[in-house]
Amino acid sequence: MDRIVEKTIINLQKHYFEVYYYKTLEEVKEKIKEYLQIYQSFAFGGSTTLVQTKLKDFIIENGGKYIERESQKGELEKIESERAALLCDIYFMSSNAIASTGALINIDKRGNRVASLIFGPKKVVIIASTNKITKDIDSGIERAKNIAAYLNCKRFNLQTPCVYLNKCVDCEHPDSICYTTVITKMSFPHKRISVILFDGNYGF
Ligand code: SF4
Repeated sequence: MDRIVEKTIINLQKHYFEVYYYKTLEEVKEKIKEYLQIYQSFAFGGSTTLVQTKLKDFIIENGGKYIERESQKGELEKIESERAALLCDIYFMSSNAIASTGALINIDKRGNRVASLIFGPKKVVIIASTNKITKDIDSGIERAKNIAAYLNCKRFNLQTPCVYLNKCVDCEHPDSICYTTVITKMSFPHKRISVILFDGNYGF
């Protein structure tokens, strides 16, 4: 195991996160299955990692009641499903960055994903490959803006400055997807948030 991965695990544990580290996606699936036997209703925070790894499909196939956002047609229906997701049993998401000092860094527009991370679902499971690890919180924010948010702006064909300048300029553009930055320094209740780390390079 890389030293930075080892340091990250130790510091997350010190900050009351439940942490697992796996070498393969098959092992990640086995852990997810355990959660799905305990928790019934589930929802997702938007995550390229969960899509690229097909873990999202796996959870939908093996989980209980899916509080689904994607199939909702109108904007109001989508918001209602995001509100319902706040009361699900288990919420799956990734993280824009994970500081090796033991913190999660996430940037949202509407804030439904970070709201669920902070409060609501009984259990939150962060699924992230080790490429999301950064030295500290500052470099995590840098990663969240200059890699995660920037690439998402490109993906959604937004008119934000980063798309034209190929870097984040900390804009206040109305189409910005960076309205809210959340640093999760510790998990409360203790171990409510689990972090599943695995070797690889997925997501933004
Ligand atoms: S330029 Fe604006 S929208 Fe783009 S990453 Fe920076 S803050 Fe976010």
